[in-house]
Amino acid sequence: MEAKNNRIVIAIDGFSSCGKSTMAKDLAKDLGYIYVDTGAMYRSVTLYALRHGMFAADNTIDTEALQKAMPEINISFRLNTGTGRPDTFLNGECVEKEIRSMEVSSHVSPIAALPFVRQALVRQQQEMGKEKGIVMDGRDIGTVVFPDAELKIFVTASAEVRAQRRYDELKQKGMAADFNEILKNVEERDYIDTHRETSPLKQADDALVLDNSNMTIPEQKEWLKQKFEETMEKLG
Ligand code: C5P
Repeated sequence: MEAKNNRIVIAIDGFSSCGKSTMAKDLAKDLGYIYVDTGAMYRSVTLYALRHGMFAADNTIDTEALQKAMPEINISFRLNTGTGRPDTFLNGECVEKEIRSMEVSSHVSPIAALPFVRQALVRQQQEMGKEKGIVMDGRDIGTVVFPDAELKIFVTASAEVRAQRRYDELKQKGMAADFNEILKNVEERDYIDTHRETSPLKQADDALVLDNSNMTIPEQKEWLKQKFEETMEKLG
């Protein structure tokens, strides 16, 4: 893959709640690149399924109804001038806050394991990156969405550290949070994300690994900036 107008594709993958999106958003802002949070896309489909009663009491999914509805699920991002970050819109409605709720978090991984959901969202993600100059975060960006991305990062941290971060984030937003429930959710999602048949979460062979369990946000930012600069130097 070659840089376009000196702009590249940056793929950031890793476990849930490991601070990927904070790093990715900050880098995109600094570089003037587009930032795409693909987790928000899977969360939006989940919210749609929840709202349309597609989960049975035992949490099985009405996959037939969801597959039929896929063409009607329109996900987009618009820059929030207040936060300087993109908000997620589902069929024209801002759902940025709702998609971060525990209810969505605890239903998203089975939805993200459905091949027809992945197929539809991956296609949209590839379209978004066609012009390069993009930082995309998710689980399968460096392996499936952009296997030729010029810079691939794989982020990891211990489950406890990640649960604490998610807890602090929810509290800060004034949302309900229970540490043990969050830890259980983080571990469950890790399991489903790494064991699903379609595009399981795994490190791309050519990804650079970042374990940020003991790093501050400014330290991570610095590390990432350095990797970006090294990549650009190599590309000439
Ligand atoms: O990144 P975030 O935790 O918001 O993602 C929510 C869920 O969406 C993940 O636990 C995973 O199941 C799914 N996901 C995925 N592929 C992506 C991004 C997210 O399967 N590229």
